[in-house]
Amino acid sequence: MSLYVVLMGVQGAGKGLQAKLIEERYGIPQVSTGDLFRAMRTRSDLLARKVQDIMASGQLVDDDTTNAIVADRLAQADAANGVILDGYPRNAIQAAFLEAHLREKGARVNAALLLELDLYVAFKRAFGRVTAEDGSSYNYYYNADGVDFRWTAQADEAFPPRLDAALADSGEALKRRPDDASADAIIKRIDTFLETTQPLISYFEAKGILRTIDADQSIDAVWSDIKRALSTV
Ligand code: AMP
Repeated sequence: MSLYVVLMGVQGAGKGLQAKLIEERYGIPQVSTGDLFRAMRTRSDLLARKVQDIMASGQLVDDDTTNAIVADRLAQADAANGVILDGYPRNAIQAAFLEAHLREKGARVNAALLLELDLYVAFKRAFGRVTAEDGSSYNYYYNADGVDFRWTAQADEAFPPRLDAALADSGEALKRRPDDASADAIIKRIDTFLETTQPLISYFEAKGILRTIDADQSIDAVWSDIKRALSTV
């Protein structure tokens, strides 16, 4: 039996981490359209250049290109028994394409998991997050022990000031993802999520396959809820 899972959630909801756990347990690969598009950076053909321009501008890639890339990925051998879709579908047109495409294969979307997170928590998870060289992660709001955080005024006095962090012991400067460093950019991504995902939530809900998971819990608790939700599909 195949298993097609759509994973939805605002940035910071823990989609990537939970997708890895689903991948391990159910033996189906995670397919992230963002990753597929980013992987095209090494190509120089016309399509790859077009996608790079679109991504650099912060727009969405057009539906035909996106759908074609997903169909191509779903045709690969490791996807024969299903996939976890992350970042796709992003709108109703893509959702309808996916549905028709799976129907041709005699399959369907079995579950749409919405990792629900309060938007202010989502903001703080992204804005406060810093990472050390060894991969350990800290957060200004949630996990700041052993870290010296410092607010530094922006060159143009823009608000909020920049958040710098270093390990208290060694002085190692901690890194932030470039796309997390700007409060404006985080808010824009949250806005885009609200705009594009809300209609999809209704779409999957109407089909009776939406499962809402509280993402404001420990990783283990979220994972338990996901396993419980998937056991019913
Ligand atoms: P993500 O990593 O999911 O935030 O995606 C990064 C970028 O890839 C987006 O800003 C879009 O330009 C593009 N992208 C990813 N998924 C889609 C999609 N389903 N439809 C259109 N564009 C997408």
